[in-house]
Amino acid sequence: MVSTYSELLRKEFGSKLGPSADEYISYAVQGARRMEQLLTDLRAYTLASTSEPVPLGDVDAGAMLDKAVANLDAAIKDSGASISRSDLPHVRLHEFQMEQLFQNLIGNAIRYRSKLPPQIHVAALPQDGEWIFSVQDNGIGIDSQYKEQIFDLFKRLHSVAAYPGTGMGLGICKRIVERAGGRIWVESEPGRGSTFFFTLPATD
Ligand code: ADP
Repeated sequence: MVSTYSELLRKEFGSKLGPSADEYISYAVQGARRMEQLLTDLRAYTLASTSEPVPLGDVDAGAMLDKAVANLDAAIKDSGASISRSDLPHVRLHEFQMEQLFQNLIGNAIRYRSKLPPQIHVAALPQDGEWIFSVQDNGIGIDSQYKEQIFDLFKRLHSVAAYPGTGMGLGICKRIVERAGGRIWVESEPGRGSTFFFTLPATD
């Protein structure tokens, strides 16, 4: 409501309200959009915290990757990203959580890209009764001193102006993975891309 009406205000009265009005209205629109994104992320975080830890059924990770890629269609086209994958397994998780994991990690791989078009590879390998998933990118990379902090809620390494975001995406991923009995971590070097790993229990 706030962003829609601020937008209408700009369209109808922008030129009549004096030279600063457009600028103020655009701050209001940006603020409202940011608040909307924060609420969406907070909802995802709450869902990750309150849904049953391990569902009875099993989830086709490949199908959830398809869904995440479809949700990110605009960002993929805008950035010229290419996404490849190995065979992906079935795992014990809620469908929406598997989709959310891929969406957050691939969304980040696109957002934190270098000057090159993003090349992202998603893979999974079995080890000791669990699957180790990896999401690898060729983006800006992460300084090793922040490797753990980035999974904290609201921890960000850049300004919103440089890279938009709420600082909740990896916190949501961590909550989902740990509630399912897994772990999440990153291996990265500044300027040489990042690989995010997470483990999930295999189905019988
Ligand atoms: P947000 O992206 O909204 O800031 P996240 O929790 O998803 O929140 O990420 C936290 C921080 O970790 C980001 O601000 C960014 O600095 C860093 N980061 C996450 N993913 C990547 C990536 N693929 N490459 C480089 N930096 C990343």
